[in-house]
Amino acid sequence: MENHLQKILVSACLLGQRVRYDGRRCLGTQDLWQRWEKEGRLVPICPEVAGGLPVPRPPAEIEEGDGVGALAGRRSILTNTGVSVAEPFLYGARKALALATHHQIKMAILKEKSPSCGVLSTYDGSFRGRLTNNMGVTAALLHAYGIKVFSDTELEKAIVFLQGLEDGQHS
Ligand code: SF4
Repeated sequence: MENHLQKILVSACLLGQRVRYDGRRCLGTQDLWQRWEKEGRLVPICPEVAGGLPVPRPPAEIEEGDGVGALAGRRSILTNTGVSVAEPFLYGARKALALATHHQIKMAILKEKSPSCGVLSTYDGSFRGRLTNNMGVTAALLHAYGIKVFSDTELEKAIVFLQGLEDGQHS
């Protein structure tokens, strides 16, 4: 019987790729990521780099942290010097969705607080370190297309969901 391996879309920076705006690494739970990588499950993408932004790049925040609103064109996405980066952010979000669709991916694990990848929280656009309970633009787009998105702070939940996928519980 064919083993149907579920793939996982993942924020590239969680795998140690230097794609963050400040060029720093941010590592997740090493053993788990290494196992998933060995199994060939992980499909990494940095939506901001995929959208054409460089490394390093100025930090950016969404107005009110509202990724859904930014997707709909109702909210701005600005750097800390007031330059709009909505176009590359939205383009990168669409590339992440296209990649997920190509690989028939049903779940993603994304880096918290990012204006692209944040699942449970994003900064509010003031550049004062204030968080909102909103999703970033890539997380919001994936979610809108039925892909289950998990924060990197929710790995236990992601593991349970993955098991359910492979047991055929979430078709
Ligand atoms: Fe790229 Fe997302 Fe990581 Fe930011 S959080 S560096 S957009 S992968």
